[in-house]
Amino acid sequence: MSDISFKDRVVIVTGAGGGLGKSYALEMAKRGGAVVVNDLGGSVDGPGGSSKMADAVVEEILAAGGRAIANYDSVATWAGAQRIAAAAIKAFGRIDALINNAGNMRYKPFEECSADDLNALLSVHLIGTFNMAKAVWPHMKAQGYGRIVSTSSSAGMYGDENYSCYGAAKAGVTGLMNVLAHEGEAHGILCNVMMPNAMTRMTDMVSAQMGAEDVDRSRAMMAAVQNSMSPDFNAGLVVYLASSACSTTHMVYSSCGGRMARVLIGATDGWQGSKEIPAAAEDIAAHFDEITDLARGVHTPKSPGDEWRIVLSKADPVIPAGKASL
Ligand code: NAD
Repeated sequence: MSDISFKDRVVIVTGAGGGLGKSYALEMAKRGGAVVVNDLGGSVDGPGGSSKMADAVVEEILAAGGRAIANYDSVATWAGAQRIAAAAIKAFGRIDALINNAGNMRYKPFEECSADDLNALLSVHLIGTFNMAKAVWPHMKAQGYGRIVSTSSSAGMYGDENYSCYGAAKAGVTGLMNVLAHEGEAHGILCNVMMPNAMTRMTDMVSAQMGAEDVDRSRAMMAAVQNSMSPDFNAGLVVYLASSACSTTHMVYSSCGGRMARVLIGATDGWQGSKEIPAAAEDIAAHFDEITDLARGVHTPKSPGDEWRIVLSKADPVIPAGKASL
């Protein structure tokens, strides 16, 4: 197995002043990458700002002989994202990889969530990822090479109580990356999604707001996974996905207690109704087991056309083979 190097590569890590992002930035710098350490230095739910967090990570990288600059802009604005990309170009001349890691949190029941809560989370996670991808895209496209690793979450991809705003924003990140993976592939821009798990100030904030029963359950789980809840246990996957060794795109991966896995968006083989008469609700009820049956396998379509090809490949296609223009 050859070493994965970031020599001559330039990486932007957003929200890299602490937690997971710091671990990613240090690991890429250790492997020779020049790193833009972005962080606005705010609190875990968003407000405030300080240059200290990003500066401290840059100092650590420089002290170890690496290359890095700090940036304190917010990914949540288009102007901020443009300044982050411009800082990378000015300092290092190119952008090879973008790690969309910046994030904030609101943890509360849906009934207590306001439109402000939703906007606060959408603007950092989803709009921030959109802004940053858009800001680096022309540079990656021009050089015919790029790696974008964006951060989703099990709370969004699987769902959990009290994460309605966060889950919506994080699932949106996956939706955005699924499309950018299509648009980037011809230009050598690979887009993948990472679902990390680590003890950070964000999970501390969630624990502080959990009910006693949930805290006990969470502590028992943490005790079982021990050290593997350190942010460093997630860095290997992110570094791989951000490197030239990675050839995969349009994928979602989970890093959980040292276990790495691909997360699938899939459809069952399903039940094929009539192609002449619409299925009635009673037909659906009669075939519900078939519709939801996992035993006959799961398809993982990569696009709407892909799903149509799967459906049309079954018996009695309405469009004969070779004539489908999807
Ligand atoms: P964290 O709070 O330590 O890190 C998030 C960083 O993003 C902070 O340093 C913060 O200052 C920065 N940030 C916030 N808003 C920003 C903005 N607008 N512009 C630039 N920087 C901004 O939390 P973390 O746990 O390290 O989270 C990192 C990422 O991983 C987040 O996207 C989070 O949602 C995601 N995540 C974390 C976990 C986990 O278990 N910790 C699980 C799933 C997903």
